Amino acid sequence: MLPIPGAERAIQAKEALDGAETGRQVVIIGGGSVGLETAELLAAAGKQVTVLEMLDTLAAKMVNVTRTIVLGHLKGYGVRLLTSCRCQEITDRSVIYQDRGGAVHEIPADTVVIATGDRPDSSLYEALKGKVPELYNVGDSNGAGVIAKAVNQGPAGLWRAACFAKKSERVGTFSFAQRPYS
Ligand SMILES: Cc1cc2nc3c(=O)[nH]c(=O)nc-3n(C[C@H](O)[C@H](O)[C@H](O)COP(=O)(O)OP(=O)(O)OC[C@H]3O[C@@H](n4cnc5c(N)ncnc54)[C@H](O)[C@@H]3O)c2cc1C
Repeated sequence: MLPIPGAERAIQAKEALDGAETGRQVVIIGGGSVGLETAELLAAAGKQVTVLEMLDTLAAKMVNVTRTIVLGHLKGYGVRLLTSCRCQEITDRSVIYQDRGGAVHEIPADTVVIATGDRPDSSLYEALKGKVPELYNVGDSNGAGVIAKAVNQGPAGLWRAACFAKKSERVGTFSFAQRPYS
């Protein structure tokens, strides 16, 4: 849970994307790709959406072309995008945040959505360790990422990596983790 007072009042972005009921005025905390995706969905459904991001850039990890398109859609829907703003508290009807100059503001919110990222949960992998002959921890449970990363870490990815290493006579030195996504 986000370590701020009132965080228990908020819903998670995944719940909103799954169709959870939201009020008219929605504040999304976190302007990464999931936050912006959620903002677009809710704005398209007629909600008044504000995105609050603590960094000075929105969706910093998004591919540039996609980022430009998504930001264009959000602008078209009139989504309010606030950067360099850190959420401090969620009350029963508002969000309190601090801007880059240190000034504190309060914006009304019927629903607050948290989109500040996921932590990997490798508990199942840890529980099974040593109990099966072959076990891999792949995908988001080994660090939140993208589909290509999850696929490349799986058995097919490991097999491809082994073939590649053999072909280039780099068996034993191939660094799978540093392989670029394809
Ligand atoms: C909102 C959102 C948008 C995204 N958009 C993109 C995108 O556009 N492009 C992209 O590349 N990536 C995107 N990602 C990231 C991508 O979804 C993940 O990186 C990818 O799904 C990871 O695959 P995975 O198999 O590790 O986990 P998941 O796809 O989450 O699959 C894990 C599965 O394991 C099941 N499970 C969990 N525990 C157990 C258990 N004990 N027993 C049995 N089953 C269990 C879960 O129910 C789930 O079905 C997005 C992520 C989110 C949250």
